[in-house]
Amino acid sequence: MRPIIPDYLIEVLKDVESDTSGAPAGYIPELAAADPERLGVAFATIEGEVYGAGDIDTEFTIQSISKPFVYAMALSDRGFDSVLARVGVEPSGEAFNQISLERDTGRPLNPMINAGAITVHSLVGTADLEPSARVARVIGGLSAFASRPLATDETVRASEMAHAHRNLAMAHMLRSHGILTEDAHAVVDGYTRQCSVLVTTRDLAIMAATLANRGTNPLSGEQVVPEPVVRQVLSVMFSCGMYDAAGDWATQVGIPAKSGVAGGLIGALPGQIGIAAFSPRLDRHGNSVRGVSLFERFSSDMGMHLMDIPTIARAVVRSSHTIGSGPHALQILELQGGIGFAGAESVLRAMDASFLENRLALDLTRVHSIDDVARRMLLEATSRLTLDGHDIYLVDPESVIPDPGDGGRLTEVDTVHQAMNPPYATAQHGSQRRREGLGQ
Ligand code: GLU
Repeated sequence: MRPIIPDYLIEVLKDVESDTSGAPAGYIPELAAADPERLGVAFATIEGEVYGAGDIDTEFTIQSISKPFVYAMALSDRGFDSVLARVGVEPSGEAFNQISLERDTGRPLNPMINAGAITVHSLVGTADLEPSARVARVIGGLSAFASRPLATDETVRASEMAHAHRNLAMAHMLRSHGILTEDAHAVVDGYTRQCSVLVTTRDLAIMAATLANRGTNPLSGEQVVPEPVVRQVLSVMFSCGMYDAAGDWATQVGIPAKSGVAGGLIGALPGQIGIAAFSPRLDRHGNSVRGVSLFERFSSDMGMHLMDIPTIARAVVRSSHTIGSGPHALQILELQGGIGFAGAESVLRAMDASFLENRLALDLTRVHSIDDVARRMLLEATSRLTLDGHDIYLVDPESVIPDPGDGGRLTEVDTVHQAMNPPYATAQHGSQRRREGLGQ
């Protein structure tokens, strides 16, 4: 079979190739010299499969795409409170290099604009780190996200540093507000080194897939940053990742993303894939023209907008019926699919409505997953029913509820048959035994 995904990527690359609008970044002389025809795109799944088309192994500087990853490092190293005290999470609606800080606190509005990213760079590692050790931590962290050792481009770094007047002005302003506590020049130097790290489109897709995969690199298996950090980073990318085009992006594309002035662009679709594109010509916001078009295509062709409502899951309650009669009659609620809050709510209603018998079996054989809130809701309901004197059985051969003992007093069985027959012949005995066991 001809591979479907690479064919699709080749086709969309062809569609955007003819668009030669925009221009490579001009304010960093070395970037202005980039070959504007370069074009690449890659998907990396959370299982570590990489699909690509075009120049996916050409290196270019990461620039602002480093910002979400270095933000993740600072949050992991210093904790949320100390990072949030210095850098906010509000979209600015302004250009990436605007010299603007929050009026009362002097904090940069968010970590995706330069003022925020310069501050975030200073928050990586411990407070007493030497600037060079901090840069090493940053490059090491970016390498862990990419699962290969990354290096910097000295020419681009020197070119940017020679023209870093705005970033230096911002750093001095941050220092005057007490947001930066270290030498302003050293921090901008470190931040510029961070921006000059060389990556390929393939690397960026894997880095984005690490975010999509709750912080675990799908190739190395390394948990690069903790899960709560990833949630914070993706949220900020969603609201602030595309500079002053963030609102358009959120509505039209709807994928947490980050662009860089060298022409790279990443998106992370939580639980699915990391996407990266590379094309050096930029629009007026500083985002890659062809990169933006590619993402617009992916979002609409493949339903990747985060706010697309998934087709309503099949009803969680598959059936409700009673077996037997008299005191031994057993009501069976057969559940299916993945259960979240809304599904658990419908199970509670079904339990209320159908619970005419003294004995109830919740059959989870066809349930493939249950989230934490749904698990707690079901266990609370079974706990209340057992306290009311009912006998509840949990048919859970795959242990989708691994530890029902903490919230519910019920009997676990592997099949509905066991709930109907010996050793649970008299349900009261089975249930009683379990209750006594828990009480010991
Ligand atoms: N190094 C660039 C700067 O600070 C990064 C900007 C970007 O990629 O958007 O100006």
